[in-house]
Amino acid sequence: MCGIVGITGNADVSFSLYYALYALQHRGQESAGIATFDETGFCKHKGQGLVSEVFNGNKLANLKGKVGIGHVRYPTTGENRPENIQPFLFQFQNHTIAIAHNGNLVNYQEIRTNFEEKGQIFWSTSDTEIISKVITEEIRCGGTIDDAVRRCMQLLRGSYSVVMLIDGDLYAFRDPYGIRPLCFGYTTDGVVIASESVAIDALGGTCKRDVFPGEMIGITADGFRSRRFTVADHKAHCIFEYIYFARADSYIDGVLVYDVRRRIGGLISEEAPVKADAVCTVPDSGTAYAVGYSEKSGIPFVECLIKNRYMGRTFIMPTQELREMAVRIKLNPIADHLRGKSIVLVDDSIVRGTTSRRIIEIMRQAGAKEIHMRIGSPMITAPCYLGVDMPTRNELIGSRCNAKEVKDRITATTLHYISLDALVESIGKPISDLCTGCLTGRYPIEIGNEICEERSVDFIESDFQTPLFSEQT
Ligand code: 5GP
Ligand code: MG
Repeated sequence: MCGIVGITGNADVSFSLYYALYALQHRGQESAGIATFDETGFCKHKGQGLVSEVFNGNKLANLKGKVGIGHVRYPTTGENRPENIQPFLFQFQNHTIAIAHNGNLVNYQEIRTNFEEKGQIFWSTSDTEIISKVITEEIRCGGTIDDAVRRCMQLLRGSYSVVMLIDGDLYAFRDPYGIRPLCFGYTTDGVVIASESVAIDALGGTCKRDVFPGEMIGITADGFRSRRFTVADHKAHCIFEYIYFARADSYIDGVLVYDVRRRIGGLISEEAPVKADAVCTVPDSGTAYAVGYSEKSGIPFVECLIKNRYMGRTFIMPTQELREMAVRIKLNPIADHLRGKSIVLVDDSIVRGTTSRRIIEIMRQAGAKEIHMRIGSPMITAPCYLGVDMPTRNELIGSRCNAKEVKDRITATTLHYISLDALVESIGKPISDLCTGCLTGRYPIEIGNEICEERSVDFIESDFQTPLFSEQT
């Protein structure tokens, strides 16, 4: 889970990159970085923290150039270390290259070992460095950039949406299954390539379309060009982008994510109708679902939980008491809307079940009589190896408990997860074009035993003392 962007323009693009990264902040809060290129070479700035913490006016003004790329990072492969902050910049022969990547390679170790056996060294633990190595190796052997990207598509197994600057030319490419999103569009003076269309919106641009799986686009002195290197027999777009990860106001393949979620809400109300006084969202991620449930069921949408907008990133509180208090600061129940009422509580997903349990608890304390939980995804039963930072299998409540046990654990009156069929129908793509790994345990590509084992540690009860907050709820 990361956000990437590449921009060309008629003037310095650093401020545009900054705004675009701001629009993608939900995709990663751990670090942010920008690299730009002008006649004199590269400028870069990166650091740990939110986009607003890493950059300021002075720093942006120093980033010169009419072309640049940016990245916000959520750790997947590679721990939280400064050398893992993207974009990566390096010199190779006569070229200067900057690269930023969203995704996760499942054959990282295999490729790395191959390179190491040939004497190559690595300075990070990020799989993005592997992509850089594949590209430079191809150039070293006399290949063109196109050859290098084609080579990536042959060698890399996993998910990768990539933006790359090579001596001031901007390139972007997406893995043959299109697992992680990537789209592009135009502003009045250039091109924007971004993980989500909201970044193009933020710059007043118009989204043209999603980058096709297996496609590379290039913006060079010769203009815009596109090449499609591989056409797989199906796609594997991440279903979790629709459920949770993408912003509701983003378009994926021309479809508004908000409307997908609203349709899901409508179908949940058909699958699991209930007599209740109000439909309430778990803000913000549950809102479009709750609106859809309310519309279809005719039960009024009433907000019963208000989220504190200023609650930034929080550390894990040391005691249970402080943790309970912190939940209340983040989400405050409106007792007048809850007292004596039967509530349909709608959220997008249950991952560990800890947040859901606490929310239900504070709603009951505020006087709610019944809480009928409705969830916009089927049970999450398996880890993601393709770029979403899901917990290990044993931390997932859905991998150890059936729906009845989850209901009891989170203390809901009733609980319903949407069916996979209804979810897929809401998205409007055939299931064969979606990655449903986290819901079905069936992945679009071979994951490899090494990774599967590394992820499946034994469950320890204390794992449930999970980070109380995550950046996005
Ligand atoms: P749980 O009850 O499983 O502890 O938390 C459920 C909440 O976690 C939901 O409101 C959902 O929006 C949120 N959530 C789902 N997936 C993710 C994720 O990958 N990262 C973060 N930070 N929150 C998530
Ligand atoms: Mg949420």
